[in-house]
Amino acid sequence: MLISNKMKMKMAKRSPIRIAFDRAMKLRQDGKEVFDYSIGNPTSRCPEQVREAILSQATTDPKVHSYMQDQGYPSVRQKIAECLNKQFGGCYTIDDIAMTVGAAGGLNNIFQSVFDPGDEVILFKPIFGAYKGYISNFDGVMVYCDCDEKTMLPSIDSFEECFTEKTKLVIVNSPGNPSGVVFKDDIARKIATIIEKKQEEFGHTIALLSDEPYRELVYDGVRSAWWPNFYKNTIVCYSYSKAASIAGERIGYLALTPGMDEHNELYRAIILSIGDLGFVNAPAISQRIAEACADLRVDASYYDGNRKLLAQGLKELGFEFPWPEGAFYLLLKAPDGDHDKFLDKLEDEGIVAVGGDAFEAPGYVRLSYCLDTSDIEKSLPHFRNVAKQYGLVE
Ligand code: PLP
Repeated sequence: MLISNKMKMKMAKRSPIRIAFDRAMKLRQDGKEVFDYSIGNPTSRCPEQVREAILSQATTDPKVHSYMQDQGYPSVRQKIAECLNKQFGGCYTIDDIAMTVGAAGGLNNIFQSVFDPGDEVILFKPIFGAYKGYISNFDGVMVYCDCDEKTMLPSIDSFEECFTEKTKLVIVNSPGNPSGVVFKDDIARKIATIIEKKQEEFGHTIALLSDEPYRELVYDGVRSAWWPNFYKNTIVCYSYSKAASIAGERIGYLALTPGMDEHNELYRAIILSIGDLGFVNAPAISQRIAEACADLRVDASYYDGNRKLLAQGLKELGFEFPWPEGAFYLLLKAPDGDHDKFLDKLEDEGIVAVGGDAFEAPGYVRLSYCLDTSDIEKSLPHFRNVAKQYGLVE
């Protein structure tokens, strides 16, 4: 057999996001009006500088399109380091920054760099489902920390119990996919204190990987914690996919906190991994877009408008969910706890969502509200029809 057993196992677990995507296609083919809440594809317009950066690189000069250092252009890393220092008061230099093929590429670079088979990584439920595939690529073992059902914030007692001598990493994702929940300074402080304690107890470095592609998509004046302020051994994984609405252009970066344990070794491992996984380097044109947009962001008020419309509408219908304060997702509780039945009922009304099992959140469905505001408006009467079936409204 050509296909490896490991790959066969991956293939057997069909992505629930894919399933939802196919469902939306089928509904459309059947001539139904579809409200596609399944996929987190950015819809806010790109900053004007994206267009300008692309146009300024339209040339036949091969030097503009050639290979470079695996970790990316020095000028791009310099600009990002300066922006981080300005925004967060750090002391980043180009030797702390590595350009990656989106956040997804950066995550794989870190996992390849740190995991020996059986090494453990702690994740806070609910999780971004793709972590499972990336972690299993390098034979890491996932350990889940429970959360409070109402707030979807971590249970600190559960967190403390997750550590063993095999723990290498803790992943935080704030603002979070799939819940839209934001980890603020108070929770960051508690998490950091526990990791410090466990690191001392086990006598080896435990890194915190902050996956933050939605960093700027926060609402109501809340701020997601800046993890290097709380924990020295933090690696920030960032992406321009959502921040500049260029998800298909595949560009992000890893930022190692200056002075973190094993800094230089880890940086060298990341550089090797960028080449070793076949990325070679992050796309040249996209790096220059990142440079042009380093301190620019899409208009978050667009998503905020969608969020308020949807969340208020669902609340008035009696649905339950943790109030989303960031990203562009909302995790909706199935009124009777059966998310498959709930998905079917939503689908009968043309609403396509993703089952919570993809995110270690059974009993919930994820709604991605990056669709046109007018479609959200039009979908609310259909949510009402579903609410009626559960007796939430008359
Ligand atoms: N991390 C999280 C939490 C995400 O939601 C996503 C994409 O949706 C990624 C990482 C990957 O993003 P990128 O497009 O930068 O690879």
